Amino acid sequence: MAAITLTHLSKIYGQGAKANRVIHDLSAEIAHGEFIVIVGPSGCGKSTLLRMVAGLEEVSGGTIAIGDRVVNTLEPAERDIAMVFQNYALYPHMSVFDNMAYGLKIAKVPMAEIKARVDKAAGILELGGLLQRKPRELSGGQRQRVAMGRAIVRQPQVFLFDEPLSNLDAKLRAQTRLEIQKLHRELGITSLFVTHDQVEAMTLAQRMVVMNAGHMEQFGTPEEVYNRPASTFVASFIGSPPMNLLHQAPNTPAGRILGIRPEHMDISASGWPLVAETVELLGAERLVYARLGTETLTLRLDASHPAPSAGDSFCVTPRPNQLHWFDAQTRRRLPDA
Ligand code: ADP
Repeated sequence: MAAITLTHLSKIYGQGAKANRVIHDLSAEIAHGEFIVIVGPSGCGKSTLLRMVAGLEEVSGGTIAIGDRVVNTLEPAERDIAMVFQNYALYPHMSVFDNMAYGLKIAKVPMAEIKARVDKAAGILELGGLLQRKPRELSGGQRQRVAMGRAIVRQPQVFLFDEPLSNLDAKLRAQTRLEIQKLHRELGITSLFVTHDQVEAMTLAQRMVVMNAGHMEQFGTPEEVYNRPASTFVASFIGSPPMNLLHQAPNTPAGRILGIRPEHMDISASGWPLVAETVELLGAERLVYARLGTETLTLRLDASHPAPSAGDSFCVTPRPNQLHWFDAQTRRRLPDA
């Protein structure tokens, strides 16, 4: 296992007039054994960052260290990493055992050792009964576990996951998330996991890197990112429905944006005057989309409480210790008042 240190990392695709900077001066220290999720919308540079750590993309500036080795110029095979992709990339004509053993055979690991490592990985991943099957005889979730098994048997210092769950249906995704957490608890290998899905990020990460257009907007635990978003981007990217960002809420000082999460407002006799526009029942809770002057906002209410209907006027009171203030120019979080 090893720590990963990214120092002033940058990536530029193309040259001259066509140069396109897609990673901007990114620095982060990842501790030995940590599970880090890199999350952000499509095109923000997540895969580029992961691929630079893997050695599949050249670094344009800055350094990547794995343990105390700067790996910028090392080949992927010399970096002691294993990568799990979205398309499992299993060999269709090989059994599960051979798929998992292949890389070790190429590396001329003795057969007894290969068998021991594959058996151990198959035990952890509950693939023991499936070792003689071909990939086509497996479900999507099982194939993804074989892909993880193939990474585990290499006993790498670092695991890199590139959106490994995006081909699975919602139920299987949730189950595989639990398996990845269990795997990390058992093996404790430093991991970088890329996803565009904020729920996946919140549930898997020990700490998460939130990216926007090649910049690291915030690096923190899921609690920190949710409770104290560093920018309006993070505030609206993490959380569903997203945080309300209001420019003209009552008592908002000029130059500031007020953020309030949909679950942090209560219906009250007086307070902010709203008009309900749409009401959606989601089972345990109800979402009310309402107008406050010229702005719209979303409320999330317990479905067991009475709720307004579309067209109703009503008032809410925001919970005072749940207000977030952002600079309207820089869009960064302001110190709490
Ligand atoms: P993400 O993984 O967050 O969706 P990527 O890292 O794939 O984002 O891409 C980040 C940016 O870099 C995008 O604007 C993308 O178009 C650009 N990009 C990615 N790969 C290349 C490439 N090989 N050549 C030029 N531009 C690229």
